[in-house]
Amino acid sequence: MKNKTIIFEKRPEGKPEQECFRIEENLVPEIQNGEVLLKTKYVSVDPYLRGRMSDRKSYTSGFNLGEPMQSGIIAEVIESKNPDFRKGDFVSGLLNWAEHQVSNGEGLTKVDADAAPLSAYLGLLGMPGLTAYLGLMEIGQPKKGETLVVSGAAGAVGSVVGQIGKIVGCRVVGIAGSDEKTELLKTEFGFDEAVNYKTTPNMRKAIAKACPDGVDVYFDNVGGEISDGVMLNINKFARTTICGAISQYNETRMTTGPRLQSVLLVNSALMKGFIVHDYAEKFPEAIKQLSQWYGEGKLKLKETVVEGFENIPEAFIGLFEGENIGKMIVKI
Ligand code: NAP
Repeated sequence: MKNKTIIFEKRPEGKPEQECFRIEENLVPEIQNGEVLLKTKYVSVDPYLRGRMSDRKSYTSGFNLGEPMQSGIIAEVIESKNPDFRKGDFVSGLLNWAEHQVSNGEGLTKVDADAAPLSAYLGLLGMPGLTAYLGLMEIGQPKKGETLVVSGAAGAVGSVVGQIGKIVGCRVVGIAGSDEKTELLKTEFGFDEAVNYKTTPNMRKAIAKACPDGVDVYFDNVGGEISDGVMLNINKFARTTICGAISQYNETRMTTGPRLQSVLLVNSALMKGFIVHDYAEKFPEAIKQLSQWYGEGKLKLKETVVEGFENIPEAFIGLFEGENIGKMIVKI
């Protein structure tokens, strides 16, 4: 049986393009004792993969040219010579962009197809959900009545951050890149206010208007000029989670903005970088809480689903063009 794999072919300069990837065709591998054969069902495409494609320092190791691309994947065990897995099990893991692959079981986690749709384990009940919950609770520490601002608000992480903000009783303001998204933030995710950064001439003024009591917690997914505008509105003892900086990922040179030291100083404010894997010991408690809220209907699952193995690169590139609402998933 034929098997396709997507290979990392060329480092992007600026925005990633199709030519950064190549499809290789081989035969489906045979398994040995202790191994399982996996069939890919859902592939997660994530902005952090852009960092792994460059040779700059990042918080995860870089991809090597000529080797398969990798990301979070949900797969079905279709053959097993490993006593821990049975044919028909569904697993999640950091796996290759391949239709089929062999694993010795290391790093695979079984997922319950009855508790939630399988793709949810790549979003709300997976790494983005953990990022939203832990980044907000551990650093943002939101309190009832405070104002929370979220950038990248209609995406996988941002949409969950905003919904958690509402659960804990904050006034929540989202920033996103289209009127369709800002409308949805209010109607579907329960945000109090939303700002379209693409049509807003002055982000500082727009945030001042949307946050009449100032900003107590800022969950930052995008960095750059959007965040400059938010930071100039923070309150005394404000907390900012630096979760992502997607507006900067494709920059080829260092950009500069307002110098924020005095803003942080006069407000006794905290700004802290957050990497979800540093909080691994809190994953079980976070998943328990996210699953409970999801089961109670307090957290909505929203996905943009692209179909077809060959379209994984296109879905990934689409993240930088704002093509997703909620988690971007590829269904194989
Ligand atoms: P996502 O928000 O679902 O998708 C990316 C979104 O970013 C797009 O839909 C687009 O929405 C927005 N975007 C793209 N280019 C932009 C630009 N130049 N300026 C402003 N917004 C832009 O992705 P995600 O998986 O939830 O990740 C969100 C952020 O969190 C990313 O920065 C990611 O790297 C980070 N992250 C960090 C961790 C961690 O442990 N620190 C873990 C997961 C994710 P618009 O239409 O609104 O522009």
